[in-house]
Amino acid sequence: MPFSDIVGHERIVEVLRRSIRSGKTAHSYIFEGVPGCGRRKTALALIQAIFCPAASDDACGVCPACRKVAGGNHADIHWVSPLPDKRDISIDQLREMQRELALRPYEAPRKACIIEPAERMSVNAANSLLKTLEEPPGNAIIILLTENAAMLLPTIRSRCQPVRFAPLSPEHVRLLLERGGMEGASAALLAQMADGSMQRALVLDDETLAMRRELVLKHLGGLDAGRVATVFDASEELAGNRDEALETLDMLLSFARDMIHLAAGSSDIVNTAVRPALESFAAGLKLDRIMQIAGDIMETRAAVQRNANVKLALDQLFMKMATAAI
Ligand SMILES: [Zn+2]
Repeated sequence: MPFSDIVGHERIVEVLRRSIRSGKTAHSYIFEGVPGCGRRKTALALIQAIFCPAASDDACGVCPACRKVAGGNHADIHWVSPLPDKRDISIDQLREMQRELALRPYEAPRKACIIEPAERMSVNAANSLLKTLEEPPGNAIIILLTENAAMLLPTIRSRCQPVRFAPLSPEHVRLLLERGGMEGASAALLAQMADGSMQRALVLDDETLAMRRELVLKHLGGLDAGRVATVFDASEELAGNRDEALETLDMLLSFARDMIHLAAGSSDIVNTAVRPALESFAAGLKLDRIMQIAGDIMETRAAVQRNANVKLALDQLFMKMATAAI
């Protein structure tokens, strides 16, 4: 995973490459961002570029050192994460890491350590890390991965170079999913729902999505303001818990966006698999009415995120949509 393979973080990559060219990489970094946005890959790219004997400011990606880093079995990289069935990273794990970093590297020019997720270090572990950050043994490079740097001790933050990763754009998520072999329509749909995280995109199972898409369309087609039961049935079946409701709302929003495109005479839509259904919905509505529905969906989504009652929020939304004669 050389820097050249990193998607969506061009500025960060450029800064890191420049630091390697000038021989001024930091001893410790905090990579902050949502899980699945590319923090770990970038950390490995940085380590690879430092370890690769052929590298100037980026790894070759093919030499034995590069392949070991990419394969997760380089002896000079030490990973620290909570042990299975433990919540926190313990001080014992930190001590082991310190012993490891104090040894001479086996083959790399320096040792490297990745702590993930850094916010799960116990207070003792974090305090013990402070000493290591002050005097990194053997020129070691330490990279902390965290979702939220504010959850780390200020004394740790002040000793590390902060690097903030933005969530990936839907376009970048789609690109990465397609690189991984996913077909275009599914990748585009998942990318819309992934909140900038490849991890989330991959968790959203494609088949479950397809089933949910069918279910949502079935209820949309059945909404009838004259028969309130159709509205309550829809929210009953589609609400689920908060996360599921948010997924439903993301899907509705994605449908509404497509219908706006269709109503405006564009065929540039994301949900190509259900195109006929969307076309027939769009045909029955004026463009400004669809845009109003999209606005209602966004409002509902914001309310659900703010902890509104999920079922009530969907009841109200579907009633508005039924009145729009979808
Ligand atoms: Zn290499």
